[in-house]
Amino acid sequence: MIYIHTPFCASKCHYCDFYSVALRGVDTQNIVNTICIELKSRASELTSPPTSIYFGGGTPSLLHPTQIKEILDTIAKNFDTSSVEEITLEANPEQLTESYLHSLLSLGINRLSIGIQTFSDSRLKFIGRRHTTAEAADAVKRAQKCGFENISIDLMFGFADHTLEEWQSDIAKALELGVQHISAYQLSIEPRTLFAKRGTQCATDELCQTLFLELHNTLCQNGWQHYEISNFSLPDLHSRHNSGYWSGKPYLGVGASAHSFDGNRCRSWNVSSVKDYIEGVELEKEYLSNTDLHNEYLMTRLRTAAGFMLDDYKKKFGRDFKATTRGLNIENGRVFIEAKNLFTSDDIISTLFEIG
Ligand code: SF4
Repeated sequence: MIYIHTPFCASKCHYCDFYSVALRGVDTQNIVNTICIELKSRASELTSPPTSIYFGGGTPSLLHPTQIKEILDTIAKNFDTSSVEEITLEANPEQLTESYLHSLLSLGINRLSIGIQTFSDSRLKFIGRRHTTAEAADAVKRAQKCGFENISIDLMFGFADHTLEEWQSDIAKALELGVQHISAYQLSIEPRTLFAKRGTQCATDELCQTLFLELHNTLCQNGWQHYEISNFSLPDLHSRHNSGYWSGKPYLGVGASAHSFDGNRCRSWNVSSVKDYIEGVELEKEYLSNTDLHNEYLMTRLRTAAGFMLDDYKKKFGRDFKATTRGLNIENGRVFIEAKNLFTSDDIISTLFEIG
């Protein structure tokens, strides 16, 4: 799995704490050149051929198609790409013109993840997005018309004044659009965001749980699969890339602030500064202890509806998994949390943690 971090955005959304800088004033080509150099120099770190490539951000759809091509060509020259089956690009609706979409398709991008967040214009303004609901819907329809058959959209829930009716309307509109995947994130107010500075509040846990269950029930009744806390898809259209993170696959992350994992014990990450990244500041690394590995295994596996197999746990840790706790199910050798209860999975999983 290869992750490319595109660390710039047209403007900062009020809730966002991802690493990104303002597009104005950055030399995007210099960033692309550095990404290509990093891809070449770190190719040997990925010990198995990549199965997915993911352009995340930031706003990767601010890259010119020729820049995306440079990155993909560099990957093709330096990695065995014969097993790559999914290439995702995160996009904001305002960049998805017909010609841009055709270029993406011709480059082999076969999955779009579109940051829509809500189908309410006043809410979009409140969270600092640059598009309107009509532009978002048009972008999805254009992408479908151009030939994209695997489209994910992001939705957001948990505003302090969020009503069930508003959320039901968002879900209905997402279904009407005929997308294949929805990532639904609960709003949290992170330090260093505009929302935090303004003292914006989010919804109570009780309201968030109601909204979460509404989404779970509506999508499941419509034949969707709730396969991870925040992720839903039509059958067999799970995000291959993100599923790889949750099953412990190795991944190489390039670009400022991108993280990598060797599939064993070593996690590494690039500096969160475009300037330092371009100047070649070295990666930071950490090696996970046995306790970290154990707790991370539980945290990543149990956030998915599939959970983990007892056999796999034993193979990995050399002992049987014995814990029981309310909300945890063990059936036919599989340990899992029911999808409808994933909202409280953090509480359940933390009771299983080892303290090292
Ligand atoms: S939410 Fe996306 S578009 Fe908005 S600032 Fe964050 S990374 Fe950029």
